[in-house]
Amino acid sequence: MNVRVRLLNNKPIRPQAKYVLYWAQMNRRVESNHALAHAVALANEHGLPVLFYEGLACDYPFASDRLHQFVLDAVPHTEKRCHKLGLGYFFYARKNAQSPNDMLYRLAADAAAVVTDDYPVFIATRHNLTVPERIDIPYYVVDSSCIVPMNLFEKREYAAYTIRPKINRVLSQYLVPVERWKVNVPFRYELPAGHGAVSPAECDIDHSVAPSKLYPGGRKAAEKQLEEFLLENLRRYARESNQPAGRATSCLSPYLHFGHISSLEVALAVKEYAAEYKLVADEFLEQLIVRRELAFNFARFSPNPQSIDNIPNWALETLRKHASDIRSPQYTREQFEAAATHDALWNATQNELLITGKTHGYYRMYWGKKIIEWSRTAEEALATMIYLQDRYALDGRDPNTYTNVLWCFGLHDRPWTERAIFGMVRYMSFDGMKRKTDVPEYIRQVAALG
Ligand SMILES: Cc1cc2nc3c(=O)[nH]c(=O)nc-3n(C[C@H](O)[C@H](O)[C@H](O)COP(=O)(O)OP(=O)(O)OC[C@H]3O[C@@H](n4cnc5c(N)ncnc54)[C@H](O)[C@@H]3O)c2cc1C
Repeated sequence: MNVRVRLLNNKPIRPQAKYVLYWAQMNRRVESNHALAHAVALANEHGLPVLFYEGLACDYPFASDRLHQFVLDAVPHTEKRCHKLGLGYFFYARKNAQSPNDMLYRLAADAAAVVTDDYPVFIATRHNLTVPERIDIPYYVVDSSCIVPMNLFEKREYAAYTIRPKINRVLSQYLVPVERWKVNVPFRYELPAGHGAVSPAECDIDHSVAPSKLYPGGRKAAEKQLEEFLLENLRRYARESNQPAGRATSCLSPYLHFGHISSLEVALAVKEYAAEYKLVADEFLEQLIVRRELAFNFARFSPNPQSIDNIPNWALETLRKHASDIRSPQYTREQFEAAATHDALWNATQNELLITGKTHGYYRMYWGKKIIEWSRTAEEALATMIYLQDRYALDGRDPNTYTNVLWCFGLHDRPWTERAIFGMVRYMSFDGMKRKTDVPEYIRQVAALG
């Protein structure tokens, strides 16, 4: 079987089925989707059409106007593309606790097999653990999130330097477009009632987290973001990606998280553009491939990716040794959430998150390190960081979220000089930020957002 694919149960194909069901849990796109390609291959083999299904629940943790709107923005394009390519398309938003909660099972009742996304965190992981035993047909999970398939690795890698050579050894084999497919049997069935888009206002979700002021969701927005990055920022990336006010990064993480674009498409486009214009794209590809896939590797092999127990022993021990160091100032989760610290730069990073759904990557490190410095305990700091990222970040609830939050505590890092609170865990200071970055300009930019 294809190395991207895992069969998670031992059920037989339904003989008199109407279609193969592709359940887009994470990779909500038609383009460059290995899981959808697998569903089409399976359907063609059995002389069946494919139904593309995406759902939107009201009860997953942190469901809000922000996250709902981002998902809903993508629906019209996906539906159009499905119809053009002969796939059925079904979108179901469960508006409130009284709405039916069994749509997947209803659709699976007419399916020969289910194909879905292999994803190592959040609700997709839970679904992929529980659903396979509850249905009576094969349940395949396919990795269309990583360029080098997660399944190629047998264990958790220690750090970027251990996974990098392993990725580079096989990268040329996997850095190729998803094979083009064609359905043999177009989809022609009537679909159950409930089909159709909704607005976040109709759903029983958190209305206090507003849609992002900067990032609309959807395939078109993702393609525009990529194009802007190629035209304006790729040539600046190596020099300026650590200069938040310079805005030289791609801002693709929300689109990668919701699967509106694949990292494979981004890497191929970046390589092609760099070759044509004689640019060096190595720094960007290091983040997009090595760092991102290190995060997927971490999550895949960590039973609880949100636990502080995942950090290396040296980090656990040094934090323990400094657990009773005095923290001054000290803030509560509510104070952090309200961007109400004494530090104008920190408040700006939090405000950027609150307003846009994303903080610049360089200042996200500062943001995390200061939460450690100003929280009562390391455990409380970790909980605050995960809560804020998952609730407000468009790219939160992602393998990158938990890996990078834990990086602030020493994961994938090395010991540094010992100091208060952090022990040997890397520290970041306001003076360092002032020296290396244009703090006043960044604060001004965030203030201008709203
Ligand atoms: C405390 C903390 C929390 C973070 N939380 C998240 C999160 O919730 N979701 C998230 O996607 N990233 C997170 N990151 C990693 C990183 O900050 C973001 O991926 C990056 O800022 C996204 O912006 P961009 O798309 O403009 O990145 P670019 O610099 O343009 O990079 C391109 C892509 O490479 C990947 N990438 C970049 N930096 C990293 C990194 N350090 N580790 C892994 N992959 C990376 C991302 O997919 C990103 O979209 C976090 C970092 C820290 C320090």
